Amino acid sequence: MGVRVALVSGANRGLGFETARQLARLGYRVVLAARDLNKAEIAAQILRGEQLDVVPHQLDVASAESCARLGQFGVDVLENNAAVMAESDENPLAAGVLSRSALTVAPELLREAFETNTLGAYRVMQALAPGMRERGYGRIVNVSSGLGQLNEMLGGYPAYRVSKAGLNALTRIFASELREAGVLVNSVCPGWAKTDMGGSQAQLEPEEAVATIVWAATLPDDGPTGGFFRSKQPIPW
Ligand code: NAP
Repeated sequence: MGVRVALVSGANRGLGFETARQLARLGYRVVLAARDLNKAEIAAQILRGEQLDVVPHQLDVASAESCARLGQFGVDVLENNAAVMAESDENPLAAGVLSRSALTVAPELLREAFETNTLGAYRVMQALAPGMRERGYGRIVNVSSGLGQLNEMLGGYPAYRVSKAGLNALTRIFASELREAGVLVNSVCPGWAKTDMGGSQAQLEPEEAVATIVWAATLPDDGPTGGFFRSKQPIPW
């Protein structure tokens, strides 16, 4: 077996960047994918400076064309990490507190979140899962959130919540279709982490938050599939 290849989407910053670093430290060749090639190159340069095997690549998960180009890579491990918090105050489509309530949120916000967080992951899986199935090996980690958990679903942040619940459904569907092919597909909630999305008040450093993501990326052949995990333990959907 040669060097395994891992692709991380949205890897120029935050949890994606830290996941790329930790997988590369474990000996994976990491395709560090970001929607802005320049940002991918800058991030890859940092990790190469740490003697890590990292290849920058342009990937906008909201673009069908950009995702279709991924077919060129033989990817063994996919981290669907790229996402937007559509309700963020920085989003020009969002309208502050009105966007955080299901009663007043603009439907465009749901569409935007779905386009990146759900359909984006779907496009990347469609591009890469057939190769995994052919080779008889694959690990797919959908970076989800407790905010997408139906079991504990509360009000607020409807766009983000619905998009992550949809992502969790994709985990179940792809896990079922790929189960016999040696491809394990799981959702992970990293916990509340200090990133641009999580904010400075968050509990976890990125290094701690990606532990379960890296664990799911490196599962043994008899590892779980079709599950939702936090702190390496199953949690309800
Ligand atoms: P972040 O710092 O905001 O980073 C998000 C990343 O996604 C950025 O690299 C961003 O790229 C990328 N991205 C957004 N839209 C994209 C697109 N269309 N194509 C490609 N890349 C795109 O967020 P984070 O905290 O690291 O979050 C990483 C993952 O963890 C997400 O799935 C998030 O939902 C999940 N999560 C985070 C927390 C938390 O507390 N931080 C908690 C639960 C779950 P640009 O730099 O180009 O914008």
